[in-house]
Amino acid sequence: MSIKPILIHPDPRLKKVADPVGIITPELGKLAEDMLETMYDAPGIGLAAPQVGVLSRLLVMDCVKDAEAPPRPMVLFNPEVTWTSEATNTYEEGCLSIPEQYAEVERPAEVRVAWTGLDGKRHEEAFDGLWATCVQHEIDHLNGKLFIDYLKPLKRQMITRKMVKLKREKARA
Ligand SMILES: [Zn+2]
Repeated sequence: MSIKPILIHPDPRLKKVADPVGIITPELGKLAEDMLETMYDAPGIGLAAPQVGVLSRLLVMDCVKDAEAPPRPMVLFNPEVTWTSEATNTYEEGCLSIPEQYAEVERPAEVRVAWTGLDGKRHEEAFDGLWATCVQHEIDHLNGKLFIDYLKPLKRQMITRKMVKLKREKARA
């Protein structure tokens, strides 16, 4: 396993629609393992393949917050939202591609998602709470959408300017 560099916004690869995955090859399995390791190392609760520069429909997540509880690493290929609740939830979201910036985003409180697992089989599950927010945030990444796209233009531009500055400082270091 290895830790992959995470792309920082703004980056054209974060704005692209990712391609569906075909057969789950050992290479894709290895990529999913690397993404999980990268996510835990960051640390974060979700990571989508475009964030490590791979434009494939793959995301990983683990929203278990209780440090005492066993981890629940999940790998979702070709995830699709099959149902959303009318009730919504507002969470203060962040993103590994937009470090240290947080903002409230309103999304459906509950979703059903279908996906292909590492086993090559189709799965479907309902998510609520933080899991629901996380899976929607990550699926957005596969469609070239970031959580700041839900914010008012002024706030979005402010965050983007901060990221441009951060990237410039990182490049100099
Ligand atoms: Zn994100």
